[in-house]
Amino acid sequence: MQLDLTTISVVSAFCAAICGVLLVLARCHYPETKYIWWWVAANVAFVMASLLLARCHDNSLLHPISFVMMTFHPALIWASTRMNGAHLVTSLVIFAGPALVALAAFASPEGRMQLSGTAHAFVGSAYLFATAYSMVFHPAQPKVPARWPLAGLCVLHALALVFSLPVLSFLSEAPSTVRAAAEMLQFEALLFVLGSTIFVTAAMRERREAWQRAKAETDELTGILNRRGFLDRAERTLKRCRKDGTPCAVALFDLDYFKEINDTYGHAIGDNALKAFIKTAQRSMRANDLFGRVGGEEFAALFPGADAPAALSLADRVRQSWVRVGREIDGRDVNSTMSGGVVALRDDQSLEELLALADQGLYRAKKAGRNRIELAANDKPAPPTSQTCLA
Ligand code: GH3
Ligand code: MG
Ligand code: MG
Repeated sequence: MQLDLTTISVVSAFCAAICGVLLVLARCHYPETKYIWWWVAANVAFVMASLLLARCHDNSLLHPISFVMMTFHPALIWASTRMNGAHLVTSLVIFAGPALVALAAFASPEGRMQLSGTAHAFVGSAYLFATAYSMVFHPAQPKVPARWPLAGLCVLHALALVFSLPVLSFLSEAPSTVRAAAEMLQFEALLFVLGSTIFVTAAMRERREAWQRAKAETDELTGILNRRGFLDRAERTLKRCRKDGTPCAVALFDLDYFKEINDTYGHAIGDNALKAFIKTAQRSMRANDLFGRVGGEEFAALFPGADAPAALSLADRVRQSWVRVGREIDGRDVNSTMSGGVVALRDDQSLEELLALADQGLYRAKKAGRNRIELAANDKPAPPTSQTCLA
């Protein structure tokens, strides 16, 4: 069955309009995805360009105008993708491409159709390549799996643009050849609109799920991992260490007499002390150490690659730094200190066992007078002994 340009264009316009409505509905369901309005605008441009194309006759002026409109489609998709990654979008870049296509049309009144079509193909593909690049490589883009097929579709659409219109129009300037190329392109663009709507919606859902997962694993007050987040990640890291035979250690930290700080200076100062402690601890730790808030004023850390002496010295570095920083919070002489328990991994111990042993170390540190780190003995089943680290 042979479909002519008018039929393909009308069908494309209809499908793009429905896809646009679906995107609006998805946007209502995921209100955080403001950037989708730009993708909807891209669909509107596509619908208008397709309707203009459907009314085209070979020598009509409508052809170049529809190419200009059609160039807004990838330009607005590019803008939407940049917005999703919170990048700067200047309207100058959005309008520059379509303006170039318009210029090409008016520069050559005789070959208006060919030149504007070729310009549309090159400019459109440039926007699409930039979109795919931004989706995959820009560090600020949400790392959702759907970005891969979406970027793939953009690259395929860009290649189709580059290879169909200019190649065909340079091979033969006969209007029928250009028309055949336009029909092919319009059909391919329809497939792109359908496919991209599916993956954009999937990306919106995945983005929401990733945000919900991160929220469930984050402590609201301090922004670091909460108990659940710490346990999840520590479990995975520990598994890797056991498998590779890498040493690993677990530490538990607890701020000393924290209730007194709250009672004496107020809850707000207590909150700020917690935040200051987290900053201090993070500064003392290495990039791949895990750190989370596992209770009110209790924190856990996992030190991959650290044996017992290394973990003890790391934990004590945190303690010493906190002695300095915790002396004064918000101009008040709080003199906060911390105690800790540390244990190094042996054999195939579970995270629960390690945390229980670290807790025993912490308990001993508290009993021994606080502001110290105790290394819990991990010579199961021998009776526990401990080594103290105190300034
Ligand atoms: P110890 O040295 O034995 O650990 O004594 P402590 O006072 O630190 O321990 P305790 O368990 O008696 O008290 C913990 C306090 O931590 C009680 C609670 O009000 C406070 N706390 C827990 N969560 C928060 C929080 O989010 N903000 C503030 N400001 N205080 C908190
Ligand atoms: Mg405490
Ligand atoms: Mg406590």
